Parts: sequence; C-alpha cells; structure tokens
Amino acid sequence: MTKKSFSNQLIDKFSLDLYQRSLKFPRNKINIFYLRDHPFKVRSIILDNDREYHLIINEIKKEIFHDCPLFLIHSERDKKLCVHFIKLLLIIKEKFSIRILRDFDNYTFISDDIGSRKKGKSYQMLADKCLDNNNFVEALSYMNKGIINQIDNGIIVEKFVKTAIDNNFFIEFFEFLEINYVNKIKNGNLRLFPKVLWFKG
Ligand SMILES: [Zn+2]
Repeated sequence: MTKKSFSNQLIDKFSLDLYQRSLKFPRNKINIFYLRDHPFKVRSIILDNDREYHLIINEIKKEIFHDCPLFLIHSERDKKLCVHFIKLLLIIKEKFSIRILRDFDNYTFISDDIGSRKKGKSYQMLADKCLDNNNFVEALSYMNKGIINQIDNGIIVEKFVKTAIDNNFFIEFFEFLEINYVNKIKNGNLRLFPKVLWFKG
C-alpha cells in the first residue's frame, strides 16, 4: 500500500478539508505513551489550545475514546471526527491505520468515562513513565491530574504522598495538601483522603 493511496483513503473517508487540517496539526502536540501491536491499542494525550484531550483506540473492544469538544458535542458519527483522530491515524504505523479504516464502521465512539477510569489510568501510566526516568516533578503533576480526574483514587493518593516525601518534594506535598485536604475540610468532604492523615504521623 503506497502512501498516496493511504492518503486517498483518508480523504475519501473523512474529506479533503479534515485531512489537510490534520496534516497541519503539529505532531509534537500528540503524546503517544502506550502502544500495543496485537491486538492494536494506542493511548495518547493531545495538547490543543492549552487543553489536554485523551484519545484511545482499542481494536479488541472496537472503541474510540476521545473527549475534545467536537467529539463531545456532536452526536452524529461523521461530525465527531476531528483533526486529532486523523492526525493519530497518520502517526501510527500505516498497517494499523488501514486496519482501523477497514473496520471503521464497527467502532463505537465513546466519551463517557465512568469514574474517569480511562483518564485516571492514562495519567497513572504517564506518571510511571516519568518515575522510571526520575522525573519526579512531572510524575507528581500527572499523579495530581489522575487524583483530580479519577473518583476511585485512593492508591494514587498514597503514591503521590510517598513519592513527594521520599524525594523531598515538600512544596509539592504541602500544595497538594492545601488544595486537596484543606479545601475538602472547608467543604466538609474528606473522601479524597483515605490514609494521608496518618502518613508518617
Ligand atoms: Zn478531537
């Protein structure tokens, strides 16, 4: 399959306008942090206009999860399609994109993320990658996003606290306490804090 014929497939399926806009969308705004070949699955985070969007394609579940405004607002499939999705198809290996296109009508588009588990898991994976590279500041930032986004967040709260204290990130730790703990006390909601109160008591 030549490059040209793949572009033509994309144009036929999604329109020339969308294809051209996706070509212009910067490659470095898409962070692919998980990629599995068989069965194909890709998890990515996209930065667009200072906002972060999640885009996950899962071949085995035949699901496309995305949360950009276009994808969220429209109910018709064709109108949900955005530059982020087409750009991701252009970035991943062509054989996988072609496979997705071939089976495209069988994919379900989803935006609902009950308990934000998908987003929470993505943030945890990003944090773990940063921890592997000893990039603690970024790891804590991703963990914080995971905590804010995910309802069932007890494990990640503990991990955040442990990482911050073990690596002497006390400013981040106290900021975290203030934002999450002090505000929750004010609001009378301590659900977020399963074990933090007793930590290194
Ligand atoms: Zn999008």
